[in-house]
Amino acid sequence: MIEMPKELFKQLFKKPFTNLFPLKHAPKSVLALLKKVKEGKVKLNDPVPVPKGFRGAIVYDKKKCIGCKLCIKVCPTEAFDYLEKERKVKYHVSRCCFCAQCVDVCPVNALGSSKEFLLADYKKK
Ligand code: SF4
Ligand code: SF4
Repeated sequence: MIEMPKELFKQLFKKPFTNLFPLKHAPKSVLALLKKVKEGKVKLNDPVPVPKGFRGAIVYDKKKCIGCKLCIKVCPTEAFDYLEKERKVKYHVSRCCFCAQCVDVCPVNALGSSKEFLLADYKKK
């Protein structure tokens, strides 16, 4: 039990393990930054690898879709609209909670989980 406060205290004096994000922290010149990295003046942390089975943004293969609407039925966040004329669906990433239930239920594998997680944006689409 005493280990926890000790560990927390130690963390206060450690450098962040991650690289700063978002873009406002980006350097003015990437080349100048890379030069500093090469000279050993700046250390960049390696990106954390995306684990197997990661559930990122949904990828939709419209050609495969048969318009069965099963994804619409199981989606807890109403992230799909049905396109009546085309008998296809439209996916809205801004509504998605990445549960992948639609991926599991799609009978023709038209939906899949990607490794994409850098989805922050000012525009919903
Ligand atoms: S991953 Fe979950 S929330 Fe996102 S579209 Fe599929 S069912 Fe809906
Ligand atoms: S479950 Fe698959 S085939 Fe059915 S509408 Fe959704 S994407 Fe299309």
